[in-house]
Amino acid sequence: MIDLRSDTVTRPGEAMLSAMLTAETGDDVYGDDPTVNALEAEIAHRSGKQAALFLPTGTQANLVALLCHCNRGEEYIVGQLAHNYKYEAGGAAVLGSIQPQPILQERDGTLPLATVEQFIKPDDIHFAITRLLSLENTFNGKVLPLSYLEQAWDFTRQHDLALHIDGARIFNAAVTLGLPLEALARYADSLSICLSKGLGAPIGSLLCGSQQFIQRARRWRQMTGGGMRQAGILAAAGLYALEHNVARLQHDHDNAAWLAEELKAAGVAVSRQDTNMVFIKLPQAQIAPLKEWLKQRDILVSTGEVTRLVTHLDIDRRALENVVDAWREFLQLYG
Ligand SMILES: *Cc1c(COP(=O)(O)O)cnc(C)c1O
Repeated sequence: MIDLRSDTVTRPGEAMLSAMLTAETGDDVYGDDPTVNALEAEIAHRSGKQAALFLPTGTQANLVALLCHCNRGEEYIVGQLAHNYKYEAGGAAVLGSIQPQPILQERDGTLPLATVEQFIKPDDIHFAITRLLSLENTFNGKVLPLSYLEQAWDFTRQHDLALHIDGARIFNAAVTLGLPLEALARYADSLSICLSKGLGAPIGSLLCGSQQFIQRARRWRQMTGGGMRQAGILAAAGLYALEHNVARLQHDHDNAAWLAEELKAAGVAVSRQDTNMVFIKLPQAQIAPLKEWLKQRDILVSTGEVTRLVTHLDIDRRALENVVDAWREFLQLYG
């Protein structure tokens, strides 16, 4: 199967499985799992933060972060299309009585700070209390400019807001910029990171922040049902991923760039390629037959209003050559 639907579809390879199999474990709710502790220490070090927490999912990491930053009746300013506004089932509102204040992202994934400023509520009994600015990096594959992160950081210091970065794919951004994680993480009070996307672990996310923040986060993780016991078998996959699968993200980016060029050359309307994602605007009539055509050739894609192809560690250049060939054949018959 050539699965281009997402970078979440990767399966652990033999070396990762072997690391999981031989992991030292203990009861992590007691703080006794040495592998979880090692993973948390490793990402705290890499992000330049005091502490970190291992959670089952990115959704829970973002939720816990919001619960730490905002109390009931407080709000966070967030992108209209941000994962932690649109795609997390309204968890912060449901479980935290936290009000989101969404504003439209720019195409490059930034939230214009002049607009953010307009939405910061004055101290007035009618209004929720604005506490947090939440950014996403990468956003739809786009790397937020470092200069913007710096401006957003200064802006939040001036306005007494905290800054959270949903960095599900922040390593794709770091690799693109050729910078260590710390160089991006320094512009955030808290940062969530997915191990289960481009990094290729089967499960797991990390939340980084100050000692005090992570202590609070640990309680919220417990309350939201995320306290895991011998989680070292999962953390071992995360440690393996951090050690072996970060620098190689560049291959995914190169593969996505190659795929975009080849499809363009074949006459496909590629609208954009960033990091490991290619976005295509298909003619309406092609959507269903193309999906079926590719599926019959063991190629899975998410088609729709915009079709998104995602490269990852289970996709090599050979696989992409097959995709381009299949697509060309399709266009010869239906194009
Ligand atoms: C995938 C993703 C998440 C959530 O991660 P899960 O582990 O699927 O819950 C959060 N934010 C962004 C930007 C993501 O892409």
